[in-house]
Amino acid sequence: MKGNNRIGIITDDDFAIKNVPPYPHPTFLSYESPLRIKAILDYLGSKEVFSNERIIRIEPLPIDESILGLAHTKYHIESIRRFSNRGFGFLGDEIFITEDTFELAKKAVGGTIQAIKSVLNYDVNQSFALVRPPGHHALQEKASGLCIFNNIANSIIYLKKELQYNKKIAIIDIDAHFGDGLVQYFYDDPDVLYFSIHEFDFEEVDIGFIDELGEGEGLGKSINFPVPMNISDEEFLEFMDVLEPILLEFAPDLIIIASGFDLYFADPIGNGLLTSISYYNFTDKLLKIAKNVCESKLVFILEGGYSLIGLPHCVYAVIMALLEQKYESPIFEKIQFPSEFKNEDLSKIKNSLRKLLANYWISLK
Ligand SMILES: [Zn+2]
Repeated sequence: MKGNNRIGIITDDDFAIKNVPPYPHPTFLSYESPLRIKAILDYLGSKEVFSNERIIRIEPLPIDESILGLAHTKYHIESIRRFSNRGFGFLGDEIFITEDTFELAKKAVGGTIQAIKSVLNYDVNQSFALVRPPGHHALQEKASGLCIFNNIANSIIYLKKELQYNKKIAIIDIDAHFGDGLVQYFYDDPDVLYFSIHEFDFEEVDIGFIDELGEGEGLGKSINFPVPMNISDEEFLEFMDVLEPILLEFAPDLIIIASGFDLYFADPIGNGLLTSISYYNFTDKLLKIAKNVCESKLVFILEGGYSLIGLPHCVYAVIMALLEQKYESPIFEKIQFPSEFKNEDLSKIKNSLRKLLANYWISLK
């Protein structure tokens, strides 16, 4: 088998040490902390994941700074660099800058590129980039929502422009929040499908609705599946009824998962009620689809997910599904949540979305 049935985990100890939030007590800014990666790596270590012969750990190679310019304006790149050189600062309410921010954010782009290249080159069959800061909110001209550079967008543009990669890519964004930065890069691109499941957030973000379907040649290739708060393990995979036929019809060469784990029940920012089994089940389903459409080429890129207790379990659940091994949820997740969630809302969203998409996808007619 090409890729030797191996899974690459792309990470660097710097992600577990550097870019420490300026204030340690729980606030929005403090959640994006090196402890996220440290907690994941410690847990994977305790489960002896790195001793598994199918897993290889890969360090990100340094990237040339010019690569950032493929996805971001000079002004944005320079402002992050200068702020980092100064050593400390804030950009609005949602970004903190330390002396490490510029280099670490650049490394996150490098790690994402490497995760994708290692799969496209068949060094491994699937990969998971454990990188930070996250990327999917970052815009061409500015940082946003804890994201500095848009790791996934930057990597895809790099593939297309620098490596002349011209095959189809599907991005599946499972972060609790809409990837308002990521979606904009490919809104009119017929070769990049963007599918996002995210919670309703009418107060802060006024995009991410079901009728935003892309534009020009990209019409029908930008798909939003918003979900009400308190979505649970039982309902989470409803979106696969829309996504699966589209993936089979679109037949991408590569599937990238913007892997945010902030719909997890203990996440301090998201409003979902998921436990780690949802991420296991999702990965298990997706792997089966990927075997059919893209030689199982799946690349997971860490986005959000801020529960230091839950995040390691969610990542481990994904890896166990990729290894096609059984997964046992931790005992503390086995509680019943009181839920106000109404399943009819989800069915309504699903049916309305399928109707809209039937104009663009034969499989949904
Ligand atoms: Zn998020």
